[in-house]
Amino acid sequence: MTYDDSLEDIVTRRIIMAGNWKMYKTVGESLALVRALKESLAGVSDREIVVCPPFTALHAVAEALRGGNIQVGAQNLYPAEEGAYTGEVSPRMLLDVGCQFVILGHSERRQYFQEGDAFINEKLKAALEYGLKPILCVGETLEQREQGRQRSVVSAQVGRDLEGVSAEAVKQVAIAYEPIWAIGTGHTATPQQANEMHRAIREVLNGLYGGEIAQGTSILYGGSVKPGNVDELMAEPDVDGTLVGGASLEAESFIRIVSFQT
Ligand code: PEP
Repeated sequence: MTYDDSLEDIVTRRIIMAGNWKMYKTVGESLALVRALKESLAGVSDREIVVCPPFTALHAVAEALRGGNIQVGAQNLYPAEEGAYTGEVSPRMLLDVGCQFVILGHSERRQYFQEGDAFINEKLKAALEYGLKPILCVGETLEQREQGRQRSVVSAQVGRDLEGVSAEAVKQVAIAYEPIWAIGTGHTATPQQANEMHRAIREVLNGLYGGEIAQGTSILYGGSVKPGNVDELMAEPDVDGTLVGGASLEAESFIRIVSFQT
């Protein structure tokens, strides 16, 4: 089913520029970075800015950013309020330290921690139940792309990860299309490849929830986004933001990325 392009004129989407710091930065290093971001990005109001530090730095970073225009996200959660889950962190704990967002389904978690769509779906529902905004990551491997299966793989992920999520709740979800072959490799998807996959994701959303939600959902691109390629990626009509790994670890490059111009 193809979604209704005419809705483009009436539905506006949030632009979200998010940084995934992965397992980098101590508390001190995190604070130095966010102080620099805060100072340079204070005037930005036409796009949402999100930083996702490791768990250990979330509280300090959220305190440092309190009242400003930069929001804080976690990189994972465990889908229970509390309990005997050694080493895990609950949505309630994330809210308590000042998080508004949470990255879920990142390919590194799918690959190294064997997270499947059913578990990601549980996490997504838990995040929504607690009022955290999920950034749901999906994306194909190089092998799947070489076999021409990128659309079917990503569409299936989106369908399974959103199973049982209501139309009202899904409005809080942003989706990040992150081809695995582009993450941390320096091989960015071309703007056209990104846009094509974002449209495919919008078509899945259209089938599940209808045109208004398909048009209203922010779909971010992630995979070797850099200061030198962000403008052309953001110029694509279906690219509504970026999820940035490596280039979000330094103030200068992330500031440039957030300040993209089309
Ligand atoms: C990521 O970690 O989500 C990511 C896209 O990493 P990088 O920008 O380093 O490719």
